[in-house]
Amino acid sequence: MARIVMKFGGTSVADLTRIHNVARHVKREVDAGHEVAVVVSAMAGKTNELVAWAQGMPKATGSSTPFYDAREYDAIVASGEQVTAGLLAIALQSIGVDARSWQGWQIPIRTDNAHGAARILDIDGSELVRRMGLGQVAVVTGFQGIGPDNRIATLGRGGSDTSAVAIAAALKADRCDIYTDVDGVYTTDPRIEPKARRLAKISFEEMLEMASLGAKVLQVRSVELAMVHKVRTFVRSSFEEPDAPGMGDFDNPPGTLICDEDEIVEQQVVTGIAYAKDEAQISLRRVDDRPGVAAGIFGPLAEANINVDMIVQNISEDGSRTDMTFTVPSGDVDKALAVLEKNRATVGFDAVQSEAGMVKVSVIGIGMRSHAGVAATAFKALAEKGINIRAITTSEIKISILIDGPYAELAVRTLHSVYGLDKQ
Ligand code: ADP
Ligand code: ASP
Ligand code: MG
Repeated sequence: MARIVMKFGGTSVADLTRIHNVARHVKREVDAGHEVAVVVSAMAGKTNELVAWAQGMPKATGSSTPFYDAREYDAIVASGEQVTAGLLAIALQSIGVDARSWQGWQIPIRTDNAHGAARILDIDGSELVRRMGLGQVAVVTGFQGIGPDNRIATLGRGGSDTSAVAIAAALKADRCDIYTDVDGVYTTDPRIEPKARRLAKISFEEMLEMASLGAKVLQVRSVELAMVHKVRTFVRSSFEEPDAPGMGDFDNPPGTLICDEDEIVEQQVVTGIAYAKDEAQISLRRVDDRPGVAAGIFGPLAEANINVDMIVQNISEDGSRTDMTFTVPSGDVDKALAVLEKNRATVGFDAVQSEAGMVKVSVIGIGMRSHAGVAATAFKALAEKGINIRAITTSEIKISILIDGPYAELAVRTLHSVYGLDKQ
């Protein structure tokens, strides 16, 4: 007997037929004698609809910020998961499985106060453990908890993955299964490259890079938590028949295992390609070249909660003026330009230019640590396709390249093929 957390994403619970199908997946594990907690997302498209409603509301009179009240945003967008949890609990009961739904605050899942992008601080799993011991399935709303202000807080888009891993850690579960609309983690997004291959295993570090660099199959924070708490996490498909051969295999379920690097025997140099759309490039021309300038630029941007990513600075020819280029999410360009303009006098620069609609394509692999020439291969392959490189950043296990938006798919496919990742 083991304890398992099963998470089902939006497409897996998109309608009542699929919710009944999910119930059969859960019943399979219950019948095998396991204790089960289930984490659910909102039905596909629901959260987008709720977000659009919230964003369409007028801001409060006299409000000093251009945004709506984030606590009310959370109250609105958290409702999608509440519906799914109730429906799944009923679907389970209807096939003879004892189940009840739990909202984040009822457990409670405690978060910090960052409404809209809250982090889980603590989960009291004692009541869930007691009831699972009595054979009851806990169906928990993903994506949310309760903040120190006693109000619902959501964890950022895609946050149900994080709820699942955090609950698995709190319950000391033997496994956390993330069921989605693909049967595992692929060498790149299979929607872009049909030749992508499913990985049997991927290391925590690589998955962290893949997720951070745009592969939305897992929320970044969920991978961090899995890594820190050593949660055995599988990504697998909810679209398989629940009773298909091997689906209930405890040690080796079908899907991709996220694990420690040393569990992976055959390590490739490059494991995967990720991409992130909607990046914007901002360049400051003729910036003063003196100590404190970078802090003068990026400090205020950070204070405004703008996520600066790639930063490129040239060495100035005469030691007095230089150019500084960096990227931000396209949605933050106007805010960033306003912040820069406000700080123009203190920083000292001549002009600012911006361009949206860029894409960042990244090559990821732990094997890069010990192999030279990985970056050169990428640059050559992109050049041969006539793709211009605007900026480059590297770390020990990844190379990221900024290119023009229309070339995204060509670049992903080109890199996928040049590193030998295409399925034969
Ligand atoms: P869920 O609703 O189950 O949380 P998501 O849409 O958040 O599902 O994540 C699954 C999607 O992630 C897949 O449909 C796929 O298009 C996308 N994806 C992006 N990169 C990858 C990758 N490397 N491997 C698998 N899926 C990926
Ligand atoms: N329903 C939320 C979202 O769409 C959380 C999740 O699906 O993980 O972002
Ligand atoms: Mg998701």
